Amino acid sequence: MDKVHRNLIGGKWVDGIGVNENRNPSLPDELIGLYARAGREELDAAVDAARAAQPAWAATTPQARADVLARTGDAILARAHEIGNLLAREEGKPLQEAIGEAHRAGQIFQFFAGEALRMTGLKIDSVRQGVEVDVTRGPLGVVGLITPWNFPIAIPAWKTAPALAAGNAVILKPADLTPGCAHVMAQILLEAGCPPGVFNLVMGSGATLGQALVDNPDVAAISFTGSERVGRQIALGCAAGLKKVQLEMGGKNPMVVMDDADLEMAVKACLNGAFYSTGQRCTASSRLIVQKGIHDAFVAALETSRGALRIGDPLEADTQIGPVVSEAQLAVNLDYVALAAREGCEVRGGERLEREGWFQRPALFIGASNDMRSSREEIFGPCASVIKVADFDEALAVANDTPFGLSSGICTTSLKHATLFRRSSTAGMVMVNLPTAGVDYHVPFGGRKASSLGQREQGPMAMDFYTAVKTAYVSAG
Ligand code: NAD
Repeated sequence: MDKVHRNLIGGKWVDGIGVNENRNPSLPDELIGLYARAGREELDAAVDAARAAQPAWAATTPQARADVLARTGDAILARAHEIGNLLAREEGKPLQEAIGEAHRAGQIFQFFAGEALRMTGLKIDSVRQGVEVDVTRGPLGVVGLITPWNFPIAIPAWKTAPALAAGNAVILKPADLTPGCAHVMAQILLEAGCPPGVFNLVMGSGATLGQALVDNPDVAAISFTGSERVGRQIALGCAAGLKKVQLEMGGKNPMVVMDDADLEMAVKACLNGAFYSTGQRCTASSRLIVQKGIHDAFVAALETSRGALRIGDPLEADTQIGPVVSEAQLAVNLDYVALAAREGCEVRGGERLEREGWFQRPALFIGASNDMRSSREEIFGPCASVIKVADFDEALAVANDTPFGLSSGICTTSLKHATLFRRSSTAGMVMVNLPTAGVDYHVPFGGRKASSLGQREQGPMAMDFYTAVKTAYVSAG
């Protein structure tokens, strides 16, 4: 029998209650590996190990924590090609993008190695004579991290690194569809000298294992990235347990194309934002809001570019669009394509490809209106609605008229339009003449409304979620 990749609990590799088959969405007959599924007993053991290890980890010097994170980052960078290959096979991103994501994960660990050294506080005189006030930040204790399949190394990295930098112990539960990259990250952390119990990996179902992690009274905080539906459930669980919670959820991100846009640049930004990574990015441009004067030329040019996209095996050098992550996600996408047609859109593309694997041709829903379900609900596939608008005011109103608020964008050569849009957009991230997807790792990431709840991830602000503030009053007596 093939080797089973096991859970990491208290520094030991541990079996679980069964195994999960990790399969390649391009070649579903290819088994990438068997991954142990953790049950309630393994979760409780992981929480116990984390609780036992956390005080000593918090008591290490910032330099010791920085060293572990820097070694982890270096090792991920050194193994970026190997991790990228695994990522392309388990998730379906084209190889160069997958290597780029692995590289990003390494950079994130290096960035937070520095943050471990920069946990500053505040020293101030009290309003009372002879008293000093000292404001410091410390770790929360044991934190639970729950991650989705679409960035299977970057998201585990951007939650784990700040959590460890602050002196917390971590329980990571990655997505069932993509446990491979998280498993490699766990191996690397262990090899980099992360003490037993400080980082634990439990793999398995969200509904049982994930929920048990949320409900465990010894877990102080949950950082979750995934769908809005699950996020809402996690928020309720955390409210019941009075836990700190951070949710990063879906999007229905608008990209406005004004009559004054550079057409070529706008088409490039929309093609990338809507379809790259098979549209499986929370920041994907799923609503293209196009002013009437440029509309027909824009649609014609985007159609030409869409038709020329090379869809194929992520490991082939010229592939631009890989498969949909799973058969179930493909079925959801195809249902939305049919819905858009029923709602009256002129649908271009969107069909399943006649070949092995879960491949779908990217789709445009032309003639969409913003009140259609296909324009309001997150699809999480390579599908974008094209909504025609009269002017800037209508474009802005339509862009903001969504339950979500993760990212937004505008293509324009007008400083006035760019400035007004940047100021008035109700999204957490705004792009001018850039795709709505594609962000830096050293600045805040997050949104508003149904896209995000709680403190920002990434950059220095990420430390706010993983720390508790303590205000001490000291009198010399
Ligand atoms: P999902 O919500 O189905 O699952 C996310 C994680 O939650 C998985 O690990 C899953 O096992 C776990 N889970 C499921 N039910 C649970 C429960 N009841 N309790 C605890 N954990 C549970 O999402 P997905 O399909 O893996 O990912 C796609 C979604 O993620 C999309 O909606 C996308 O927009 C979102 N996403 C958001 C961001 C962001 O930063 N805003 C980034 C990437 C992906």
